[in-house]
Amino acid sequence: MKLDSYWTDSAPAFSPAAHALPAQVDVAIVGGGFTGLSAALALAKRGARVAVLEAGTRVAAEASGRNGGHVNNGLAVDYADVAAKVGIEKARAWYRAYDDAVDTVARLVRDEAIDCDFMRHGKLKLATRANQMAALERSAERLVGDGVDTDVEILDAAQVHSEVQSERFHGGLLYKRSGQMHMGRFAHGLAEAAQRHGAQIHTGTAVNRIERLGQGHAHRLHTAGGTVAAQQVLLATGATRHGGYGSFGWLRRRIVPIGSFIVVTEPLGAERAQALLAARRTYTTVANIHHYFRLTADHRLVFGGRARFAISSPQSDAASGEILRTGLAQTFPQLGAVRLDYCWGGLVDMTQDRLPHAGERDGLYYAMGYSGHGTQMSVHMGERMAAVMNGDASANPWQGRDWPAIPGHFGPPWFLPAIGLYYSLKDKLA
Ligand SMILES: Cc1cc2nc3c(=O)[nH]c(=O)nc-3n(C[C@H](O)[C@H](O)[C@H](O)COP(=O)(O)OP(=O)(O)OC[C@H]3O[C@@H](n4cnc5c(N)ncnc54)[C@H](O)[C@@H]3O)c2cc1C
Repeated sequence: MKLDSYWTDSAPAFSPAAHALPAQVDVAIVGGGFTGLSAALALAKRGARVAVLEAGTRVAAEASGRNGGHVNNGLAVDYADVAAKVGIEKARAWYRAYDDAVDTVARLVRDEAIDCDFMRHGKLKLATRANQMAALERSAERLVGDGVDTDVEILDAAQVHSEVQSERFHGGLLYKRSGQMHMGRFAHGLAEAAQRHGAQIHTGTAVNRIERLGQGHAHRLHTAGGTVAAQQVLLATGATRHGGYGSFGWLRRRIVPIGSFIVVTEPLGAERAQALLAARRTYTTVANIHHYFRLTADHRLVFGGRARFAISSPQSDAASGEILRTGLAQTFPQLGAVRLDYCWGGLVDMTQDRLPHAGERDGLYYAMGYSGHGTQMSVHMGERMAAVMNGDASANPWQGRDWPAIPGHFGPPWFLPAIGLYYSLKDKLA
């Protein structure tokens, strides 16, 4: 079993064109995940001189290359809860921002001819207990009733069973606008497109410090290989493990890096895969410590979850893989003897309210905090922040949101085990 991401391992590696670090650019983007690459593409298309500074040795090798492969619509949190807090109008706009985000991915795939198996087969949210169905039904009624999403449908246990070969589920809620894609091939295509349109991409270039030049948006970025002066800077650092304690350390008090883990089976063969998940959707289970799964084009099962409340590392990923192996066998006992070819973990950039944050602070633009629901929103926000930096503040669907520091959180998330215990207890009592 490889302790590596299937998406990056089965995609061509993007090779940045060799450039010396530029002394000066219009826009410097810190972070070469989906947010940074998408912003780079949009800005370069507008004719800006753009440099992406990525700490890792390849682009999109953190969350963007280590996720579950779902491109889902809908909020990461319950729409009705959000509407109760911020009102229907805002909650509806935020929900629709995710529809727009899936559309943005679809458009980029088409316009830039990115070969990444993108398809829109919907997401099925599955009830693992009979008493969860009432909440799913209330959700569906509310989404339709408020005119937020009319493309949702409740499936009963028999309907679910006809397309998911498992005895574990009591029904589900289908979101028909959701999609999926091969994340490594999408990343490769996005980086190629950004470079083709003129963006410079520098890997192995961690930004250690950012110095403000005067009162405007101009900054000097310090890396081990030299400095870059930029008229504007976008922080697209996700749940960063690099730098960040210094001049943009305030992000660390607002983002909690939480591990999420994934295993991928050997190819099951077309027939067995078709019998397992006939509609080839993305699937998630209703729980705080939930599972998510889907098939790949080469008929493997990708099965993930927050197996443990831990940070990702090779030892931690392997331990989490064993927990996922048990979850997989409980969900699909017929796959108990199947070989696992891949196991990996990644860091989710969780925020306290599990909604993204984007805007400008101290002259630095930022977009992050997608809270495990960001393959679509990161791509969308890269484009949107390019428009914001071009003077259109209304392009940011998350503008004007307060973002207070999390009390007691100064960097390393010491409180994760306690949170894990709390949520597993909540799931047991639900
Ligand atoms: C295991 C896992 C499963 C997930 N599954 C799903 C899913 O199925 N569907 C979904 O919608 N979302 C999912 N997500 C979330 C989704 O992958 C992310 O929200 C999205 O990829 C975030 O993109 P990003 O570009 O903002 O961040 P990232 O992809 O993390 O990119 C940030 C980049 O910034 C770089 N960086 C950080 N600090 C510095 C610095 N100081 N200098 C230079 N570079 C720096 C990092 O090296 C990194 O490459 C999952 C996440 C994980 C971890």
